[in-house]
Amino acid sequence: MTVTPPVSAPLESLERRLRSPLLHFIGGHWVPSHSGDTFDFHAPSDNRRLGVAASGDATDIDRAARAAHDAFPAWRALSGRKRRALLYRVADLIEARATEIATAESVDTGQAIRFMKSAATRAAENFRFFADRAEAAQDGLSLPTEGFLNYTVRQPVGPVGVITPWNTPFMLSTWKIAPALAAGCTVVHKPAEWSPVTATLLAEIMHEAGLPAGVVNLVHGFGESAGRALTEHPLIRAIAFIGESRTGSLIQKQGADTLKRVHLELGGKNPVVVFDDADLDRALDAAVFMIYSLNGQRCTSSSRLLVQRSVHDAFVDRLAERVAHIRVGDPLDPATEVGPLIHPRQFEKVCSYFDAAREDGATIRVGGERIGDTGNYVRPTLFTNARNDMRIAQEEIFGPVLTVIPFDTDEDALRMANDVPYGLAAYLWTNDLTRAHTFAHGLDSGMIWVNSENVRHLPTPFGGMKASGIGRDGGDYSFDFYMETKNVAINLNGHRAQQLGLPRPDPKEQ
Ligand code: NAD
Repeated sequence: MTVTPPVSAPLESLERRLRSPLLHFIGGHWVPSHSGDTFDFHAPSDNRRLGVAASGDATDIDRAARAAHDAFPAWRALSGRKRRALLYRVADLIEARATEIATAESVDTGQAIRFMKSAATRAAENFRFFADRAEAAQDGLSLPTEGFLNYTVRQPVGPVGVITPWNTPFMLSTWKIAPALAAGCTVVHKPAEWSPVTATLLAEIMHEAGLPAGVVNLVHGFGESAGRALTEHPLIRAIAFIGESRTGSLIQKQGADTLKRVHLELGGKNPVVVFDDADLDRALDAAVFMIYSLNGQRCTSSSRLLVQRSVHDAFVDRLAERVAHIRVGDPLDPATEVGPLIHPRQFEKVCSYFDAAREDGATIRVGGERIGDTGNYVRPTLFTNARNDMRIAQEEIFGPVLTVIPFDTDEDALRMANDVPYGLAAYLWTNDLTRAHTFAHGLDSGMIWVNSENVRHLPTPFGGMKASGIGRDGGDYSFDFYMETKNVAINLNGHRAQQLGLPRPDPKEQ
């Protein structure tokens, strides 16, 4: 595990930056917490202290919410064209600083640098995609009826809270913040406490791009204090949340008193189903990529592999060979495929499933152990001889860990695919068109890919069923969340209508 930074300049600039505490960004100013409290955050590669961040509480959130509230009328009134221009500028600056962002994300979260540059590029794409829709976001429907013209218009809901997790945090933050801003909402962002660095870069970039003071605010801190206060604040109209299912349920409870609109993007235990008629080479590549890239820490990772029994043994032999040769190492080494897990707590959680697999009678075919004594490195792991009722098949592990289960018939496969608390994504591998469609219709998953890994098309709906969440992002679905739809009904039955001989509804029917 050698450290080979892609370029040393971004690393040096990151180290310089982290000599000072990361501050909140409220109302256009970088400020410490009113209490002076801070928290340490650590580098997953060796758990050294990477830096210190201001630790926000209800008072800091209140300041940020008021700043977002004060900035809302002017931001809402700005033309869609002007909002579009500003968001394009944000995208340009993200691209210009992509190497710096990728380096910071890698160091802070342990994600391999090879994936982080494209995550930054995707973040810029998110801004441009939603910016292009800013002008038309308020458009509605025309619903004429006898004697009346009804039409709908949309308007932004107001200041919104965005609460994000530690997996690919920069890209995921833009997935929420970009549509909120394009819709005309103002934002208070509370990033995950284990990965505060790139949220700071994003706030800096948005400020540099010329977003007016208070339009985007950032408050660092813990979920139980800063996060909770955001969900309970009366000036915050809606909460866009990405994180664990049990946190999602807390957020619904916390937001109940202020009737908060909530959008929850939660966990997954996503099946990849390989039928014996599939292109097995492509299926193998995709299965490996979808669980062992990004450290297995993406919500749509394919953590359960259901393989038809007739091809199961040969497929698993080839899979085991591939998993055994995945390169684990320093996240900044361009050759690294799997980096360290973000935090000792997540590391312990993943390792606990090695014991669970043994206790429940599965086979650890590859991996199942930590690597070295420094940092949070685990060996990419493959569990075989598993059943769908085992903990390793039911619970979200969120690491480079895959559970394989054989199946005989389509009915078996569908039952097992659906028999988990989650319903986020599923992947089907078959060359039988009828089977693909029929199976896809039977799946309780928000997103299904056939003969493909996760390839995003930004206008399509993104989100899950069951414990995987409530609501959809993407294209117009995002605007449905960040905007209110109102109906205007115009009575066309004045005396002119009568003179013109136009139909008038009987008032008794109204
Ligand atoms: P988490 O739920 O622990 O934390 C997410 C965020 O919520 C953090 O910012 C945290 O500080 C905050 N938080 C915690 N408690 C809170 C509370 N009581 N009130 C308000 N905020 C609170 O999740 P995590 O461990 O950071 O992220 C990993 C999880 O995110 C996984 O389950 C993963 O599947 C999920 N995820 C889902 C999607 C999706 O699109 N469905 C995408 C990425 C990640």
